[in-house]
Amino acid sequence: MLTGYRLEMIIGCMSAGKSSELIRRIERARLAYLPTIIFRPAIDTRSKPDHVESRNGQTSQAIVVENARDILKYSSHAVVIGLDECQFFGEDIIDVVLTLVKQRKKIICAGLDLDYRGKPFGPVPHLLALADRVDKLCAVCRKCGSDFASRTQRSVQSNEQILVGDSEYEARCIDCFEPPSEFQLKLDLPDLRTQEIIVINPHVVTQNLAKA
Ligand SMILES: [Zn+2]
Repeated sequence: MLTGYRLEMIIGCMSAGKSSELIRRIERARLAYLPTIIFRPAIDTRSKPDHVESRNGQTSQAIVVENARDILKYSSHAVVIGLDECQFFGEDIIDVVLTLVKQRKKIICAGLDLDYRGKPFGPVPHLLALADRVDKLCAVCRKCGSDFASRTQRSVQSNEQILVGDSEYEARCIDCFEPPSEFQLKLDLPDLRTQEIIVINPHVVTQNLAKA
């Protein structure tokens, strides 16, 4: 039986190193002879069959499942369980993860936290709320080279939330990210470049609040 963290999330945009971090943590458990297993959803057809692959060439054996409930069928012997591309598993993954956590297994989920619109992706926000440990990884922005790319830019026209591919996407920082027009911020925000700078003296504000 394990003690300590039981649900870990490795999230971020594409090319941030999520799968290689997942493989690293699973290999680390294997070095201690803990029974491990990795699952990935069948909808993701980019990796070779029965494997999880990172973009830097690391691979590890994985079971490909059509739906989240199948994970329970194959995980009874495992103590540490990795779930790659967890954004694609659908809402059922939440109950599956909670069941595994109740069995005192350690679950490590890797996946995209935001979709191409910059919106939270599928079950990931719910899993983040349940997690004991969260690591958000950043990529390097393909447009400006900043170290803080957190968005996944889609370069082809499609309104489908799920469009599996690599060449259709690139990592972008928040300044370079251009969501489809219907998902851009529409608040009427003041233009900070032309706004008069108002210096607030906290001492005066406190005095006025005391008088009120
Ligand atoms: Zn950028």
